[in-house]
Amino acid sequence: MIASGCTVQHDSMNAILWIQTSAEYQSNSEMVFNVAESRLSLLRDKQDVTADIDQAKSFGCSAGTSCPGLAAAGLIPAVVLDVDETVLDNSVFGARLIKDGGQWRPGAWDDWVSEKSAIAVPGALAFVERARAEGVAVIYVTNRRCSVRGGLSESSSNNPCPQKLDTLENLVTAGYPPLASVDLLILRGERPEWDSSEKQPRRQHIAERYRIMMLIGDDLGDLASNIKKTSVEERARFVSTHQSLLGEYWFQLTNPAYGSWRGALSGKPAQDYLRLN
Ligand SMILES: [Mg+2]
Repeated sequence: MIASGCTVQHDSMNAILWIQTSAEYQSNSEMVFNVAESRLSLLRDKQDVTADIDQAKSFGCSAGTSCPGLAAAGLIPAVVLDVDETVLDNSVFGARLIKDGGQWRPGAWDDWVSEKSAIAVPGALAFVERARAEGVAVIYVTNRRCSVRGGLSESSSNNPCPQKLDTLENLVTAGYPPLASVDLLILRGERPEWDSSEKQPRRQHIAERYRIMMLIGDDLGDLASNIKKTSVEERARFVSTHQSLLGEYWFQLTNPAYGSWRGALSGKPAQDYLRLN
């Protein structure tokens, strides 16, 4: 614990301050969701186009381009959203870590999830409401991980995924409309084949019934497969290659606090990645 009055040093200080205090954070999120909202009815009606690279590939097509086989499949149009730092703002958890001088730990994160007190990301509520009003399915895919919690009561120690109920409840307390079905929220590890932070198997599951018309997230891994764990250079190339999808089918929130961008800075000290000229 850091005494008040002391200057706090922490890797995440500026990032969390930006999220919690800057009007620029608010404005950036509102902008992303406003643009996404303006695309809803158009993309709903483009029955031959998917935002998902893998779904397009399964019909022999590319994301964001006309795919007659897809239209013939008669799938339900859906937007696929990430949860953390996309629709729920967990910066209070990050702020507490700074205050306590701690680092991210699975147990501390799970305590935060069980608290169910994350608030909505600016712009996200209006977007979700509008999507539903436009007849578009809203599906959440999160890397919140299912794990049994130790507890005194029989029910808590037997539930394989208490994080699911917590997240459903937190979405409602944050103001989101209750989900029509619990299947519209997919956690990491809900099925053995969904144990990876890589979301591709879960998107593939969604793609059996839905046409993924739009993808929204704060991490590249929310938009595409096998990109999370690549290098700084590969990630930059990937974005350049797919830039025509951005703001059209893919919508990227800003997260300076954490994400796979941070994991890409491995193998050498972070300062060695600084560009000095
Ligand atoms: Mg996220």
